[in-house]
Amino acid sequence: MKKILLIATGGTIASKSSEEGLTPLLSSQELLAHVPQVKEFCTVDTMQIMNIDSTNIQPEYWLDIANTIKEHYADYDGFVVCHGTDTMAYTTAALSYLIQNSPKPIVVTGAQKPIDMEITDAKTNLADSLLFASYDNAHAVCLVFDGKVIAGTRARKVRTKSYNAFESINYPYLATIHDGRIIQYISESVPCAYPAFYSAIDPKVCLLKMIPGMNPDVLTYMGEKYDAIIIESYGVGGIPSDEHRNFLNEVERIVSMGKIVVMTTQVMHEGSDMDVYAVGHVAKQRYGLMESFDMTLEAAVTKLMWILGQTNDPQKMKSMFYTTINRDILFQGE
Ligand code: ASP
Repeated sequence: MKKILLIATGGTIASKSSEEGLTPLLSSQELLAHVPQVKEFCTVDTMQIMNIDSTNIQPEYWLDIANTIKEHYADYDGFVVCHGTDTMAYTTAALSYLIQNSPKPIVVTGAQKPIDMEITDAKTNLADSLLFASYDNAHAVCLVFDGKVIAGTRARKVRTKSYNAFESINYPYLATIHDGRIIQYISESVPCAYPAFYSAIDPKVCLLKMIPGMNPDVLTYMGEKYDAIIIESYGVGGIPSDEHRNFLNEVERIVSMGKIVVMTTQVMHEGSDMDVYAVGHVAKQRYGLMESFDMTLEAAVTKLMWILGQTNDPQKMKSMFYTTINRDILFQGE
């Protein structure tokens, strides 16, 4: 019988109605009580480390979750983190960087409806997650939702209301789970007996979503306040350099300060490739920009926070960013 630690953090799955709307109130024990059938394959201990709407998640809380797993790593075969769906993809990506090469599964889940509602996806998601956390061939950080298992760095919330809220971006599902059966499509042997745990993260990362007409002075402000800036631009990649609003000088100035500027794309699927068009090629080759290729935005944001927590050497930051961790980046141009 597998031994699983269920770590509750709040979210809709644990919410009850109040006059002001849904709010997380159920405890980790109350969550577990809704899935008694899991006793057939695992024993579960529970811990409540916060009870928040995930709108309020902070990078410091990711460290709390990772540290909790670290402290109890030796005592359990797998871990399930219950979390709100709104920022779940960020948390799952962050955990992928804070806990690397875990031979034991660390499953993040939640629900679109509270677990104590009559019609809900919560019971299935929680039972599936406990099942996958008990599975011999499961490793590393992943997200389980609506019968799909998604690598921790590849998840994106794509629907605000429906049960099929998450997709795996630029990467296949690792497995599916139906009626208590796991069909695993992708597995790999884990090289380490013990994961690499990290306990530092630096949230000085910010995001600029490009729109036509945007003034480059926002980048000046961001360059003063932040150490890594992501510009979410268009298509396979380009940075506006029109004479009316040219972003390239500002990019060059920020890069010369030893900071990182990364381009990612607003298009959800297939990623960037800045060498295709001159508007991208020039920005990358002459102005020192990096690009996120097939990484999700959530992975790029949390990876940069993790990198800034480890080093401020620009060369090291660059090579860490382009190193594949938990399947986060596969395509890197030629
Ligand atoms: N606002 C909620 C949260 O992210 C939504 C959910 O859990 O589905 O905590």
